[in-house]
Amino acid sequence: MNRLLGKRALVTAAGQGIGRASALAMAREGAEVWATDVDEAALPSLLAEWEAESGTARATGTDGSVTLALQPDKGRIVARRLDVLDPEAVRAAARELPAPQVLFNCAGHVHHGTILDCDEEAWDFSVRLNMTAMYRMYRAFLPGMIANGGGSIVNMASVASTVIAAPNRFVYGATKAGVIGLTKAVAADFVGQGIRCNAICPGTVESPSLEQRMRRGGDYDAARAAFIGRQPMNRLGRPEEIAALVLYLASDESSYTTGTEHVIDGGWSNL
Ligand code: NAD
Repeated sequence: MNRLLGKRALVTAAGQGIGRASALAMAREGAEVWATDVDEAALPSLLAEWEAESGTARATGTDGSVTLALQPDKGRIVARRLDVLDPEAVRAAARELPAPQVLFNCAGHVHHGTILDCDEEAWDFSVRLNMTAMYRMYRAFLPGMIANGGGSIVNMASVASTVIAAPNRFVYGATKAGVIGLTKAVAADFVGQGIRCNAICPGTVESPSLEQRMRRGGDYDAARAAFIGRQPMNRLGRPEEIAALVLYLASDESSYTTGTEHVIDGGWSNL
């Protein structure tokens, strides 16, 4: 309890999957979490889940405004739309929101295919969402974090990157490798200013977009069996298991850790 008390955390792609599990995990540890996503429709259910779990009271005004009762020793979640592909929206968020002590750059996209399946449009989209958006978030939020006296940045990479090659993950693996490079470069430049910056490299994790990918091919059971078949633990990871690593890196427990990639893949890349 309270491993993040007094800290403000900004999470991108918090509407579902690993981002959502991480937002909840950080709130449980006392953080004020700014949960953002391009998909506004996903955010009310996150708030509702947190309210139900934490017992936070909600008051709706006659004008439709919503107020959440604050309890000093509890975390809270504030939901806000943020499209990390939109440079002006990111700059506006940095102007409007108080500077965070924790930034979790989680938004990303999995393109399926080899280089021959990846036309310029697909390449460009993955580069923009998986890498350029992260560059943009740094440029917008890093100055405030430095002015705050430092903080922890966690970047979503993948084990499909510099760690291992996975078939049909051409532009995904290339961009997630880029995330690791970006992480190390920023960690080196700002270590003297109290900024820690780490990348996480999950293996295959149950999430809504993974479900979609497994259904897309037409044979869901075969696709699921293939994903599980490459796992030494004979199961997929759970978002909550990845959120536990995010929490560790966000908190001061990891205060001697920066500039590195943290593999969390059920042994896939090593066993
Ligand atoms: P997901 O793919 O199911 O959900 C992604 C979320 O990102 C959605 O809520 C979506 O609305 C949001 N999003 C998409 N575009 C956005 C944008 N422009 N701005 C803001 N939000 C946007 O969730 P997931 O599978 O947990 O993936 C989250 C991250 O974890 C991704 O970066 C992914 O590459 C990475 N990852 C996932 C796995 C896995 O197996 N699930 C493994 C390794 C890494």
